Amino acid sequence: MHLPFCDVKCAYCDFYSLAHRHVDESFWRQYTDRLLDDLARQHTELITDSPGATLASVFFGGGTPSKAPAFVFEEVIAGVRRIFTRQRPEIEVSAEANPESLSAAVLAAWRSTGINRVSVGMQSLDETVLKYLGRLYNPAAYREVFARLRHAGFTNFNADFITGVPGQSVRSTITDVDFAVGEGVSHVSLYQLTIEPGTLLKQRIESGALQRPSDTRQLRQMEAAVRHLEKRDFHRYEISNFTKGYAPCLHNLIYWTGRPYLGLGVSAHGFTGRRRFFHARSLEKYLAGARPEEDTAASPRDQLINLLRLRRPFHPAKVLTLFAGAEARASAERVLTAATERGWLQKNKKTVVPTAAGFRFTDSLLAEFWRI
Ligand code: SF4
Repeated sequence: MHLPFCDVKCAYCDFYSLAHRHVDESFWRQYTDRLLDDLARQHTELITDSPGATLASVFFGGGTPSKAPAFVFEEVIAGVRRIFTRQRPEIEVSAEANPESLSAAVLAAWRSTGINRVSVGMQSLDETVLKYLGRLYNPAAYREVFARLRHAGFTNFNADFITGVPGQSVRSTITDVDFAVGEGVSHVSLYQLTIEPGTLLKQRIESGALQRPSDTRQLRQMEAAVRHLEKRDFHRYEISNFTKGYAPCLHNLIYWTGRPYLGLGVSAHGFTGRRRFFHARSLEKYLAGARPEEDTAASPRDQLINLLRLRRPFHPAKVLTLFAGAEARASAERVLTAATERGWLQKNKKTVVPTAAGFRFTDSLLAEFWRI
């Protein structure tokens, strides 16, 4: 469920998110009704293509879901629960939040609606880094957010951080993850900053006003943070995601392992198991009842990225089936063999699995496949 409203537009953000927009209760009423209508239609398509589809996870992403009123979550969760006849006994219900808007009142309301996992968009605790990212920063809100989560009874929560930001040092990255670990998070996401076209950050870098850390420095930041997390019993189950006591984000695992999902809300993407859909990046069209369009651009490349991002064994034949023709498949096999010899993949009987060294070179390995 995409709730695309934010207080300000962050300098690096290229998501469809609307900032500085007055969103009142009657607007939320209209948006919620539209989500429920979207749910009914997409569910019919899903069950046609994947008759055994079982509800496993519900995810409210943003935007900044912590700014939405409680009835949005209550009504959408109740709607999802009503419509699925097959459900897992335990459903992961996640919501994304920014520290500023995650008040004790919001958390109490979320607990009572059945939300059981919260992902907090911290990005960093370093004021300079946050300034370059164009984030709002209230030091007290950042420092207290995990205590508030614990106090409200949440045990499964994630801290989202970014590395590779102009002005960011190795020490600053370590301080960030160390704070989250000390606060008892069960999950850490550590994303390397991507400079997206059309963003304010890209303009600033191109104009020379800001400079990205060198590749070597970015690698040092990531590796130091990975070592720090692993020493504290966090397992790297995906290239950018770490969990303690194995509490992965089920929602993301559903994407990465090619299982079906509904995509409700403006600009959301869905997959019925056979067909991919997306809603246009237009709130006006969405509110007017526009149906999602079929996405024909999805390619085997996405499947390859998903195989190489997870610390899960896969059969090499899965990669070969993504290439058409005997010659292309033979080239893909050579790339896989070379990656195994370099130690980027580890062979276990019939399967291979990406290694920690391999995660350093995922982009290079993908580039070798793209050249085929
Ligand atoms: S809070 Fe998230 S969605 Fe909103 S502008 Fe910032 S990065 Fe984009």
